[in-house]
Amino acid sequence: MTYFRPEIKAMAGYMPGEQPQSGEFIKLNTNENPYPASSAVARAVEETVRRGLQKYPDPTARTFRTRAAELLGVEPDWILCGNGSDDILTIVTRAIVGQGELLRLLYPSYVLFRTLAQIQGARSEEVHFQADWSLPDQFAEAGDDLRLVFLPSPNSPSGTVVPPGEVLELGRRLPCPLLVDEAYVDFAETNCLELVARCEKILVLRSLSKSYALAGLRFGFLVGQPQMIEQLVKVKDSYNCDALSIAAATAAIGDQKWLAENRAKILATRRRLIAGMRELGFATVDSQANFTWNTHPRQPVKPLYERLKHRRILVRYMDYPGWGDGLRITVGTNQQIDACLDRLRAII
Ligand SMILES: *Cc1c(COP(=O)(O)O)cnc(C)c1O
Repeated sequence: MTYFRPEIKAMAGYMPGEQPQSGEFIKLNTNENPYPASSAVARAVEETVRRGLQKYPDPTARTFRTRAAELLGVEPDWILCGNGSDDILTIVTRAIVGQGELLRLLYPSYVLFRTLAQIQGARSEEVHFQADWSLPDQFAEAGDDLRLVFLPSPNSPSGTVVPPGEVLELGRRLPCPLLVDEAYVDFAETNCLELVARCEKILVLRSLSKSYALAGLRFGFLVGQPQMIEQLVKVKDSYNCDALSIAAATAAIGDQKWLAENRAKILATRRRLIAGMRELGFATVDSQANFTWNTHPRQPVKPLYERLKHRRILVRYMDYPGWGDGLRITVGTNQQIDACLDRLRAII
């Protein structure tokens, strides 16, 4: 095929985790929330449908930005909304990194970052985490053509965070914007939101997919200083968020009581999962997200993944060349996690 840009022909497409549609699986592979979203979400969607969908939505989702700004203690012009936070990762990459220029990533981490660089025709450099999942000094170094740095915190697959003090120092040292992907931050003990006002280069990305149980809806947002947001807005699709998702997302963040209760349940089950895995001999990282990263010092883990899948329990098997493999297990309900632990106990 000669119709496509060489970058596109050369790349492998991003492979999301398996999404069996049949519902017969205990699904612990893509970090979805096991509980339904706040009931305020369904009411907001119904109300929006009742009022009619014949008009285009508000292009910058002002109702959401106003509500989120109040909650976060910023102004609405500090917020950019997207069709999932993946949409915002695309917008930021397109706005900032030119062809042949350099993007810095971490390894092992979210694979989509590399895909975005490839689509853009940018170069990417993958800095390896240290064995304890802390950042090497090299991550903060300036580099020729370095235009953008992605830092997921909590990171996937490890569930570990980089302390905000270190992120601020990093933002100050780097010559380019630093995007802190906080898709899982509502399950963590710290976050980097307040750094945005202190350093123009720091951008903080949030998602409603995980902690608000709305992966099926597609809504995420970015917090940055207004002069940064103003440039990024030019790159987005005119109507990147639809009327239903804007209404639903506004209702979801409006229900902070739901968020606090959900978080408490997930954190309690996370403790149970970590303790159970360690009892089975896994090396399980202390997670600040809604999943855990599990390696085993004696046992190959791929057959465990396969045998769990055979029994209709789906976890994520990840193999990172040059690093090693492991199982990433999403924190489901207590019942789901107990089923997974029981099954592993029977296998091992
Ligand atoms: C899930 C995830 C996202 C994407 O979230 P969406 O808002 O659903 O697009 C972004 N970053 C990381 C690290 C994730 O794991």
